[in-house]
Amino acid sequence: MAISTINPTTGETLKTFAELTDSEIETKLDLSARAFEKYCKIPLAQRAEWMQKAAALLEQNKAQYAQIMTLEMGKPIKGAILEVEKCAAVCRYYAENATKFLADVPASTDASSSFIRYQPLGAILAVMPWNFPFWQVFRFAAPALMAGNVGLLKHASNVPQCALAIEEIFTQAGFPPGVFQTLLVGAKKVSDLISDDRIKAATLTGSEVAGASLAAAAGKEIKKVVLELGGSDPFIVLGSADLEAAVTTAVMARMLNNGQSCIAAKRFIVVEEIADKFQHQLVEKFAALKVGDPMQPDTDLGPLATPHILKDLDYQVTQSVKDGAKLLIGGQPLKDRPGNFYAATILTDIPPGSPAQKEEFFGPVALLFTVTNIDEAIKLANDTPFGLGASAWTNNSEERDRLINELEAGAVFINSMVKSDPRMPFGGIKRSGYGRELGSQGIHEFVNIKTVWVK
Ligand code: NAP
Repeated sequence: MAISTINPTTGETLKTFAELTDSEIETKLDLSARAFEKYCKIPLAQRAEWMQKAAALLEQNKAQYAQIMTLEMGKPIKGAILEVEKCAAVCRYYAENATKFLADVPASTDASSSFIRYQPLGAILAVMPWNFPFWQVFRFAAPALMAGNVGLLKHASNVPQCALAIEEIFTQAGFPPGVFQTLLVGAKKVSDLISDDRIKAATLTGSEVAGASLAAAAGKEIKKVVLELGGSDPFIVLGSADLEAAVTTAVMARMLNNGQSCIAAKRFIVVEEIADKFQHQLVEKFAALKVGDPMQPDTDLGPLATPHILKDLDYQVTQSVKDGAKLLIGGQPLKDRPGNFYAATILTDIPPGSPAQKEEFFGPVALLFTVTNIDEAIKLANDTPFGLGASAWTNNSEERDRLINELEAGAVFINSMVKSDPRMPFGGIKRSGYGRELGSQGIHEFVNIKTVWVK
């Protein structure tokens, strides 16, 4: 895949970047290793000052950064602005809390003194996706850099301007040269990078294929990996739920980022007593979405990021319909305009074995299932290879406790959509990956948890 900016709204190629040569990669890896030697000794207070500066730069220039994202991958601009603000929040969160998270932890033993000390590992490779092109990077970089590591970013090939802008933010914030670098390279270079001695660990957010490939390469080298992969999150609505609030949130939870979010609600599982009402209102709200230019502040649904994603999604929908699923609305690319637009779509009566029953749909397509009771809802929700998030709606406390305990997911949100928050850990189980980002857990992924025993 060429490293280029192709506007998904028009299909126009705006800028193409040369991939780094082997000798340029060598120079950057060397700089990264040298930067780590000094950076790991820099006091936390100084790192925090630079991280706060990065937050301030994000806040000051949020309109500019939001526009780069929307230009390169098509997310509605109102969401892009919120994304930049959230990046500033994660920088501030780790700037303010890293001292507490990284403090020595005393242990009561028979030693004269024993404690746990957290120390950085070195250069961490981050392989990142295009869907939240700023947020995914900052939620890795803020804790990693605060812990004293240095970062190397291999961003998705369709968001090179985002990748370069992020490097520039850390440079302008005052982090020394080499502490955060962007590598403009394609996916094929990742296994060479991970086998380089100067890279100590890696994190990847993206597809299962990419995650498995990185984990295999890292496994050979005995290097730690964090994987944030796909999801097909359930959104369960039970009889006691506030239906109005559930449907309104369902639309947001499915359509956020043009439907291209790992934690988007993808499978809507509704008990039969309210199924007709839920379906009717969902169709109405999907039909009312404003589709169009994502640069416009009132656009709800913009284009998909690439023609490839559009083609894959269209195939999944078409195949599901051939298998017997029923289309309630949408179901095709919007051919009346250029770019990668796909209609807001709802499928129901989904037969077992069809793509809609077992695969992740990465776009504005809701999959609607009707069940008779909570037992069936939980069984269906867990009948997926993924385990990232789950949203469930009920006002019954027994049902709530069962949902919290029995849903197989890295996060359960009751009467709310699933979202990431710097203060809480984020990650999945099953084929959604392993390891955690954010919270205190996120900063502890890329440190040596050193046992110290003094007699
Ligand atoms: P992708 O194709 O896996 O790309 C993600 C990153 O991995 C890109 O930088 C890509 O580089 C690189 N890559 C691709 N193939 C690779 C390989 N074989 N080895 C090493 N690196 C490789 O994913 P995507 O289609 O852009 O993103 C969508 C997927 O990401 C969805 O499944 C979504 O659910 C998941 N996702 C998960 C989370 C989470 O937090 N769990 C968040 C967002 C997205 P190139 O661009 O150069 O190919």
